[in-house]
Amino acid sequence: MNVNDYINRLVRPEVRQLTAYHVPDPGKMIKLDAMENPYALPEELRADLSKHLKNVAINRYPDPSAAKVVDTIKTTMNIPDELGVLLGNGSDELILLIMLALAGKGKSILAPTPTFVMYKISALTTGYDFIDVPLADDFSLNMPQMIDTINKNNPAIIFLAHPNNPTGNNFSKNEMIEIIETAKGVVVIDEAYFPFADYSFLNEVDNYDNVLLLRTVSKMGMAGLRLGFLVAKPEWIEQIDKVRLPYNINVLTQITIDFVLNNKDILDQQTKQICLDRELLKNELVKIDDLVVFPSQANFLLFKVPKGMATDLFEHLKSDGILIKNMTSNGGMLVDCLRVTVGASLENNLFIKSMNDFFNVTHCP
Ligand SMILES: *Cc1c(COP(=O)(O)O)cnc(C)c1O
Repeated sequence: MNVNDYINRLVRPEVRQLTAYHVPDPGKMIKLDAMENPYALPEELRADLSKHLKNVAINRYPDPSAAKVVDTIKTTMNIPDELGVLLGNGSDELILLIMLALAGKGKSILAPTPTFVMYKISALTTGYDFIDVPLADDFSLNMPQMIDTINKNNPAIIFLAHPNNPTGNNFSKNEMIEIIETAKGVVVIDEAYFPFADYSFLNEVDNYDNVLLLRTVSKMGMAGLRLGFLVAKPEWIEQIDKVRLPYNINVLTQITIDFVLNNKDILDQQTKQICLDRELLKNELVKIDDLVVFPSQANFLLFKVPKGMATDLFEHLKSDGILIKNMTSNGGMLVDCLRVTVGASLENNLFIKSMNDFFNVTHCP
């Protein structure tokens, strides 16, 4: 027997059929593929942070509940007092923990698609059936089909990414409420992009017994720290906390998050700049006749190119040293679509220049 015989016999088919989440090596390219904040912290703050980190006891386990970080998040992010907070190693980990806490034979998870791919990957690895309901043509919720599918399949968990990745739009609040009120399972509202959006569901969470709200600091400038948090009624936090591995938030992350959030005005300024630059970038893209640019409440823009051109454009940008995300192979509504993260203004300008070169836009002399 060789290794593949063991694997075929022992690894579940759902897992064998998956392809691991692929992240390309950016090398020295301008990175506009992963919704990162392009800005570093100011030099003085970094110097100050290094003083804090110098004294960290890395020989000791971290505070298992990261109580100080929880407190700082509650105050700096205006979390309503009645709600609890659970920290995860990225919100990716919390997605998995919610699934683990509710897992069971014959259960299903529902999400409108296209959406964040980890919902499906983690659902299949934790033994759920994954049900997707395609979004409407304008990427809004297809309500008749959502409600019908909820009533027929009674999913244990529904994921709504709000704003949605990779489409960039927010869903209608009334429609989300209708889903929450129809569902017998929990509805997870994933607000990874809340800093860039017009409205949040945060102040509604306490009105519903089946809503869990996910957030992360990744898209607001701390992707390297891996910290996400779940906001929900304390009863939910208590249950999901039981499946969390001890010490999931390492000591360097705890110290750094606390330090950066206590200087949150810097991140808020960066966020404001990113939102302004998103509009500038959008204005430049809509000048290219061949493109459809979708509305965005996030720190990225999704756009559609003429049939069959996505991969050529992607490679052209790469040859100019710019890495974005080619979505066309995802199929369905994402055929011919690419997603670009809003970078710093110099990066956005280089991206626009390369786009214009590709589409041969002639500028008036
Ligand atoms: C990026 C992203 C996440 C993952 O965030 P991490 O905290 O970095 O794990 C979750 N949900 C959505 C919709 C995202 O786009």
